[in-house]
Amino acid sequence: MGKAKKTMLVTGASRGIGAEIALLAARSGYRVGVNYLRSEKAAHDVVKAIAEEGGEAVALQADVSRLDEVVTMFERLDAAFGKLDVLVNNAGVLANFRVDAVDEHNVADVFAANVFSTYYCSREAIRRMSTMQGGKGGVIINMSSVASRLGGLGGGAAYAASKAAIDTFTLALGKEVGGEGIRVNAIRPGLIATEIHDLHGGIEKMQQMARTAVPLGRSGSAAEVADVALWLASDASSYVHGTVIDVAGGR
Ligand code: NAP
Repeated sequence: MGKAKKTMLVTGASRGIGAEIALLAARSGYRVGVNYLRSEKAAHDVVKAIAEEGGEAVALQADVSRLDEVVTMFERLDAAFGKLDVLVNNAGVLANFRVDAVDEHNVADVFAANVFSTYYCSREAIRRMSTMQGGKGGVIINMSSVASRLGGLGGGAAYAASKAAIDTFTLALGKEVGGEGIRVNAIRPGLIATEIHDLHGGIEKMQQMARTAVPLGRSGSAAEVADVALWLASDASSYVHGTVIDVAGGR
C-alpha cells in the first residue's frame, strides 16, 4: 500500500462486524484503532490477532455515545498513529421495547449509541481530515441497517428510526464535506450473524428467519460486510459518495 500506512478507526470493533472490519483493514495495510465499550478482552484479542499477522493496532476504550470520551479517544489515536484516514462509525445497539414502553432513558440510550456517536466521531474526524482545516481528506463510513427501510424486528422502532437517521445523516454529511476531500457513505447490512441478535433470541433463531426472509436464503457474515467497508475505504470507490449500500442478500 505504499510507504505511509493509512490509519483507520473502527468504533465497536471488539466483536461482530467491527472486529472483522478491523482485522481486514490491518490485512489491507491500515494501522487500526480498535474502539470498544466493555469487551476489554475481546478488543485486546483483536489487537493481538492483528499484531500476530504483522499489523499495527491499538485498543481504545470509549463510550462513543459521550462526546468527552470521543474527544479523548481521538487524542489517544493521534498519539498512537499521528493521523486519520478512515473513520468507520460502526458501534451500535439493538432495541427491543415497544413504543408504549418508552421512557426518558431507553429511547435516548439507543439514539445516543447509534446516532449521537456518529455525529461526535464524525466531528473529530472532519477536524482532522478536512482540506479546509489543514487535513489531507479521508473517508467516513457509517453503519446503517435495512431496518431503516423495513422498520426493524418486533420492538425495534427506536433502532429502525435511529438507522433511518444514519441514512439521512450520510446524505447530508456528504454534501457538507464532499468539497473538503472527505467521502461519506453508509452500509446497510441485513441479517448478519453476530451477537447483536442475542436480544431477539440469538443467532440460530435469526438464521432460521433468514432462510425464508432473505432472497439469498441465508444470513450474511460479518466478513461479507467488512469486504464492502474496505472497498468503500479504498480508492476503488473514489466516485461513490453520499450513498447507502445494501449488504443484505436481496432483503
Ligand atoms: P455486536 O456484535 O453487538 O457488536 C457491537 C459493537 O459495538 C461491540 O464492539 C460493542 O462494544 C460496540 N458498542 C456498542 N455500544 C457502544 C458504545 N456506546 N461505545 C463504544 N462501543 C460500543 O453488533 P454487530 O452486529 O457487529 O453490529 C455492528 C453494527 O452493524 C451496529 O451499528 C449494528 O446496528 C449494525 N447492523 C448489524 C446487523 C446485524 O444483523 N448484525 C444488521 C444491520 C446493522 P462492546 O463489545 O465493548 O460492548
